[in-house]
Amino acid sequence: MSLSIELINVFYIVAAALFIYGLKGLGSPATAVRGNLLSAIGMFIAVVVTLFSKGIVEFEWIMVAVLVGALIGAVAAQMVAMTKMPEMVALFNGSGGLASLLVGWAALYNSGNTTFTHITILLSILIGGVTFSGSLIAWGKLAEVITSRAIVFAAQRFVNALILIAIVGCGVMFGLEPSLTSPYLYGVIALSLLFGVMVVIPIGGADMPVVISLLNSYSGLAACAAGFAINNNILIVAGSLVGAAGMILTNIMCKAMNRSLANVLFSGFGAVKTASKVEGEVKPIVAEDAFLILEAASSVTFVPGYGMAVAQAQHVVRELGELLEANGTEVTYAIHPVAGRMPGHMNVLLAEANVPYDQLVEMDDINPRIANVDVAVVIGANDVVNPAARHDENSPIYGMPIINVDYARTVFVLKRSMAAGFSGVDNPLFFGDNTRMLFGDAKTSISSVIAEFKR
Ligand code: NDP
Repeated sequence: MSLSIELINVFYIVAAALFIYGLKGLGSPATAVRGNLLSAIGMFIAVVVTLFSKGIVEFEWIMVAVLVGALIGAVAAQMVAMTKMPEMVALFNGSGGLASLLVGWAALYNSGNTTFTHITILLSILIGGVTFSGSLIAWGKLAEVITSRAIVFAAQRFVNALILIAIVGCGVMFGLEPSLTSPYLYGVIALSLLFGVMVVIPIGGADMPVVISLLNSYSGLAACAAGFAINNNILIVAGSLVGAAGMILTNIMCKAMNRSLANVLFSGFGAVKTASKVEGEVKPIVAEDAFLILEAASSVTFVPGYGMAVAQAQHVVRELGELLEANGTEVTYAIHPVAGRMPGHMNVLLAEANVPYDQLVEMDDINPRIANVDVAVVIGANDVVNPAARHDENSPIYGMPIINVDYARTVFVLKRSMAAGFSGVDNPLFFGDNTRMLFGDAKTSISSVIAEFKR
């Protein structure tokens, strides 16, 4: 069965509208689930209509694919641990890039390609290839399969420039005589994969959020180029939306690190700076004493970080928050934009635990009033509360805005040891006069405090 071009475009407009409404919904935790669903319906319409319009497969096969896909999605969603979500997002970006590379390549089988089509084919192969291999490196860094630090070497920029020139050279040679058997086509594919590796290895440590959002944006741009290559309007629209959304997110992440994009991409995190040595006396506290201080507090701010995801402590944190509220304490949750290992990581976890959205406070809103907070409870956060970012000019994270928990009247830091965070930088917060370290797994520590409340 095939559809008229007018009808196809009507469906595509409906799908595009659903994408846009879906994206709008994703802007707030309260509407995010509905937004996600709307976008998924839009994508379903887009895929089914495309398959119908090209007469590629029959209805029954589409249904079989929908069922198989839904099953794989449901099983993956159940099985992938919340701590592995950032890695999964990196792999999703990589899959998008690989798909665009393959679509661009396959478009060469079409007859009657124009010069413009060949340019878009090259772009989808180039950006798709960079996204694919770059995302695999990002995945490796997040999963700590390879070092999460920046890998830099002498003449790195020179080597990168040479690769870029070689890509342009191969692209031009291919453009002069485009064919599926052109060796220059394979040159572009191989070099773009190499370039993806080269641009991501020098980025590491606390700069990783920028890479993740940038690769997300690239996957959209690659899809957009692939859309032009096969002349598919909805792919162009969807790719542009992902590309633009990723760029906005990249900008937000750069602002959260107080760095320019060029600085993140080319300077190599911590490659030249070494933070000053941090020394002092650590003051541990036990759950019983922490309870006494919390019980007397009139305001408590929880500051979650990656350790909360590792400990899966979000549910007990919400429970403690409710107990404190019942005790007459004002409770807030302060979210740093790069806390965790993916954009929005803390929001996802707290939403999963049904923490009321109106208790979530952004970094810029909590900082001006943090001096009036009785107790700031840092749950497995480290880099995002490191005061060295404010005062140690030698620190690799110097200049990154942090949640100023050290200005609160009392700070509890819940972590298992004195180990550094993702950026590998020591944290003077742990030695602060008003800081008490509650050592142990965050879920166990909070459960012990809850037990005291219930005693
Ligand atoms: P950090 O990685 O700085 O610190 C996490 C802390 O959690 C560690 O110091 C660890 O200490 C503690 N921890 C781990 N497991 C547990 C547990 N079970 N119970 C209690 N504590 C635990 O996290 P932040 O959220 O503060 O900062 C995020 C960092 O990751 C930033 O550097 C950011 O740039 C980077 N990043 C962020 C991304 C994003 O998109 N948000 C993406 C990639 C990187 P200990 O081992 O002693 O318990």
